Amino acid sequence: MLNSSAMRAFSTAIRGRPLQVAVIGSGPAGFYTAHRVLKDIPDVKIDMFESLPVPHGLVRFGVAPDHPEVKNVMNKFDEVATDDRFTFLGNVHVGGKDLPLSALKSNYDAIVFSYGASEDRRLNIPGEDLPNVYSARSFVGWYNGLPHHRELMPDLDSTDTAVIVGQGNVALDIARMLLSPIDVLRKTDVTDYALDALSKSRIKHVHVVGRRGPLQAAFTAKELREQMKLPGVRFNTDVQLLQSELANGAEYLNKSRPLKRLMSILEKEIGSPNILSGDKSWTLDFLRSPSRIIPDSTNNNVKAIEYELNRLDGPTESRRAIGTGQFVTQECGLILRSIGYKSIAMEGIPFDESSGRVPNKYGKVLNGQNEVPGLYTAGWLKRGPTGVIATTMNDAYETADTLAADFVAGKPFLNEVDGIGQKTGSQGLLQLFKDNKIRPISYVDWKLIEKMEFEAGQKFGKPREKFGRVEDMLAVLSTEDLKTSM
Ligand SMILES: Cc1cc2nc3c(=O)[nH]c(=O)nc-3n(C[C@H](O)[C@H](O)[C@H](O)COP(=O)(O)OP(=O)(O)OC[C@H]3O[C@@H](n4cnc5c(N)ncnc54)[C@H](O)[C@@H]3O)c2cc1C
Repeated sequence: MLNSSAMRAFSTAIRGRPLQVAVIGSGPAGFYTAHRVLKDIPDVKIDMFESLPVPHGLVRFGVAPDHPEVKNVMNKFDEVATDDRFTFLGNVHVGGKDLPLSALKSNYDAIVFSYGASEDRRLNIPGEDLPNVYSARSFVGWYNGLPHHRELMPDLDSTDTAVIVGQGNVALDIARMLLSPIDVLRKTDVTDYALDALSKSRIKHVHVVGRRGPLQAAFTAKELREQMKLPGVRFNTDVQLLQSELANGAEYLNKSRPLKRLMSILEKEIGSPNILSGDKSWTLDFLRSPSRIIPDSTNNNVKAIEYELNRLDGPTESRRAIGTGQFVTQECGLILRSIGYKSIAMEGIPFDESSGRVPNKYGKVLNGQNEVPGLYTAGWLKRGPTGVIATTMNDAYETADTLAADFVAGKPFLNEVDGIGQKTGSQGLLQLFKDNKIRPISYVDWKLIEKMEFEAGQKFGKPREKFGRVEDMLAVLSTEDLKTSM
């Protein structure tokens, strides 16, 4: 029996050329998968495709500007990109008519789908498309410089009250952005246009609303603590409900330390004098299901949101919200729904619409019960749009290990029914790029864009000033300067 390094050498020798791997998406899932595959398989070439000219997915476009320490993972991704066996192809969207998946399938041995979750879930209630009603995804994308949402221009100065539907960490990120002192935000990489709008904002009261009770809130202790420490912002909630849920759920809480810690922060806060001070406020509203958004009849802007009040049913560990048939309205001028991101299907791979994921076993794509040779998935597309970067890293490593184990075991990759065949990776796509005017951006190009962002930020004492438009990113690179490093 050969050991795994002998098997790896054997598989490499049989192939007689590098294993050609395409990774679709340059967020944490793509980079961590690439990192591990480069480590596991010496004779490999990895091409990473990214729709935008700039890499790093939600690390750049999701993580809050005032959490710079989280963004340090970009240094790790830079390291991965220095490996000679790795090529970044930014500004290349996979899956459309210009670059269909079939073109990748004929030029690569394996494809890793790690393109994240680029849509959001809707409330499906009347009034959801009124002006100043946005998804958290677009609002976060707006303040973080995501080109699709550069022109969002939310109206923050016609109202003093915002409602955020959903009680996860993204909801708290947004509440913090709306209520933080502007001088704190000035030192972050928040985009200049968002900073300008936030500096003129009249929003003073933010309601963070959930269908169920306090024990079902999905945010974590660190984010809640941060929210409680915002200067000049008092905290409101239904103290009676909180106390009764804590008393009823005492046994359950003893079994879950993170939840107990979270609840102790709320408990401490309702007993503290801070709860009464500050001219701004944030409120945790429980037991409310939005039923409609009410427009102002004079200008069609948002005037209020109506909720059906709920009661809780079932044991503490699986509480359900049951509508009571009673309704209340809350006046507000800005509504953000933060009820989850959603992945979309790509033609040519199995996709489970009900769970919004690519079906897989340890990262290997499944068609029904059968493994699909050469196709893998990682990150939010693999397991659904939840979890932090560390969760995504572990999940990406699992996918990379599955791919490497298939390689070592000599399992067939893409189109290998009749033998290994020649695969040349992105070299085989050059004509298609030319024909369809696709202009790939290399990692060297990206570092040039990033250098300009650092320089622009320095002038204002910010870590960087992001380019918010694709054309501005590309303008940094004159045609002569384009080093596609292929
Ligand atoms: C608002 C927000 C704040 C967060 N804050 C934190 C935090 O503070 N700390 C933390 O640890 N985690 C945080 N997270 C979670 C973290 O961002 C995710 O765990 C992680 O980014 C998921 O990685 P991913 O690679 O699966 O997806 P993404 O990061 O979304 O990467 C997917 C990439 O694929 C690209 N892409 C999409 N379609 C295509 C295509 N067809 N062709 C080519 N490329 C494509 C996208 O442009 C994107 O770059 C936050 C998430 C959100 C939404």
